[in-house]
Amino acid sequence: MPNPRRSLFTTRQTGPDTRDKWGNCTWTPPAKETAIQYSPATPAPTAPKAAPAPLIARLADGTILTQDGTYTVTNDATGKHATYTVKTQKPDARFMPGSRIFSVLNGPDNWNNYIGVAFLTVKADGTEALVMWKRHQGTKWQAHAKAFEAIVLNGRFVNPNNGDRYSVLMAGKCCMCGRKLTTPQSVRSGIGPVCAMKD
Ligand SMILES: [Zn+2]
Repeated sequence: MPNPRRSLFTTRQTGPDTRDKWGNCTWTPPAKETAIQYSPATPAPTAPKAAPAPLIARLADGTILTQDGTYTVTNDATGKHATYTVKTQKPDARFMPGSRIFSVLNGPDNWNNYIGVAFLTVKADGTEALVMWKRHQGTKWQAHAKAFEAIVLNGRFVNPNNGDRYSVLMAGKCCMCGRKLTTPQSVRSGIGPVCAMKD
């Protein structure tokens, strides 16, 4: 019998593959005492079907092109994270057609609570940079943009604001319900906290 959830599983970009070859969720709840850790009780499946898309594509001439998507950037030392999106406007969009917009997640809804704060541009040397929108210049978002530029756009994984090392994850989808996952713990385990509590 076909699994109605199957179509939800086709666009995962990161995290373990918690589906079998028919698209069924193979995640099982951890033992009661460890349930809060959201880690799969089953061992990680072997050999994923395809390698994940590269985070940063470099053209032959050295140009770095950052793909559209949702990025969660985590401080390796403190575990603190922030979530950002990069989105290319459609050619017929009413707002800045063709532009690439950098937004910051500012709220609990990882689909809707984004604030656009800057444009992506490619500099003469082929590296990507962010240009802050006037009304966000000098705000706290400027520090986020500066960090994203160094950590993700230029692939250095170091935040110039504090010198700390960071990890970058693309958003995933919950194996059970298909919701977007952006917290590092959820992306890595492939399941959201609400579904992980159910058994
Ligand atoms: Zn879920």
